[in-house]
Order: sequence, then structure tokens, then C-alpha cells
Amino acid sequence: MSAVGHDQGQLAAYVLGGLTQAEAATFETHLANCPTCRREVRELSELRHHLDEVPPEAFLEGPPDGGDLLLQRTLRQVREEEGTQERKPRRLLAVAGAAVLVVVALGAGVLVGRQTSPEPSTVALPVPTATAPVPGTRDLAATNRDTGVQLAVRVVPAAGWVRLHAKATGVREGEKCALIVVTKSGERVNAGSWLVSEKGQREGTGVDGSALVAPGDVASVDVVTMDGRNLVSAQV
Ligand SMILES: [Zn+2]
Repeated sequence: MSAVGHDQGQLAAYVLGGLTQAEAATFETHLANCPTCRREVRELSELRHHLDEVPPEAFLEGPPDGGDLLLQRTLRQVREEEGTQERKPRRLLAVAGAAVLVVVALGAGVLVGRQTSPEPSTVALPVPTATAPVPGTRDLAATNRDTGVQLAVRVVPAAGWVRLHAKATGVREGEKCALIVVTKSGERVNAGSWLVSEKGQREGTGVDGSALVAPGDVASVDVVTMDGRNLVSAQV
């Protein structure tokens, strides 16, 4: 379990195929429950598609200096593909082009592709993300007026346990938090933990987790600090 809430870099790497299988799987879990990121994946995919049309000369100058990890990873991938026997120039071009564009966009702090049509895209996503909701899925939400912390959490039943997709907002930077599933008998099961970043304080932190608690036995999902303060409790 890891916090992947609205991670632009990870999103871009995902679209460019720069994530490991495990990273991609984790990100897809977030994607399944985040319309915002789904839309950005779609828009980036469109951009990448359009870049197929850009002539190779456009990229001769190479990427800007000081490229980030994503760029390095993407370029490494491009180099590896270049080294193989079967060359796929158009694909390479698309990857390199998209990498440059992503770096430029990230550098400028601009959200990529916002000007594209809001209509549903016909461009295929790299992976299917449309999953039918699991029967019994519950969306819980709560606000604690004393702490100012808000929690929205989707509880998805599995066979004898639950998956959680949570977003906690209003927590101060530096707080060490845990997501706790409380059973009807009062047992407390840790479903994940994280450290609130500056961005997390500003925009909230998305956390995916799981807990060995029967779906029907969930009484609440809480966010607590490591030193035992209860920040918010979302009751079933
Ligand atoms: Zn998201």
C-alpha cells in the first residue's frame, strides 16, 4: 500500500510506460477510484498520440537540462529499445516526444492537455481501467470539526477482508498518520500509514490500503496520528 494520490509524475510515467509492473498496479488501484487522474491519463494519452505526427527533427535538440527522474527513466527506456534489433522508430519518437513535452509541462507547472475537448476520448488507454463496482462497496465520509480533518474513504469488500481507497485532507504537514479500520467489537486494524507532505497538507493525501476485517464487520474507518490522537472517524 502506498500513497499515490494525484501524483503527476507517476501519472505521466504511467502513460509513458515508465512504471514497473508493481508501480503500475498500485497506480491503477488509485486510478479506478479517481476520476481526476483518469481524465489526466486520457489527456496525456491523447497528447502522446498526437506526438506521433511530429517530425523527428523537432526532437533533435534533445530534452532540456536538469530533467527529472521521469525523463531519465523514459530516456533509459528509449535507449534500451534503440539497442534492440527490432527498431520501432515511431514508438521511440512518441515516447521521446512525450517525455520532452511532459518535462516542459511539469517545469512550467501547467496541467497538460487542459485545452483538449472534454468529450469522452476515442483514444485507447494503455490499460483497461473500467472496473464494475464491487457489490457492497461503501463510500464513507466524515469531517471532524475540532481537528478540521476530512476523510473520504471507499470500502470495497473482498473475500473476508476489505480494500480501502482513502483521501484525508486538512492534516498538518509532518504528521505521521495511520488509517485504522475499527471492527464492531472495537478491534483496531491498521490499513496503512503515511507522512503528510507539504503538498499533502495543501491538497490532501490519497492512501490505498487493506485490512483483514470482514466487510460486514467494519464499524468505522479512522485516521489517527502515531502518537494516538484521533483526527477523524468515518462511521459506517
Ligand atoms: Zn488521483
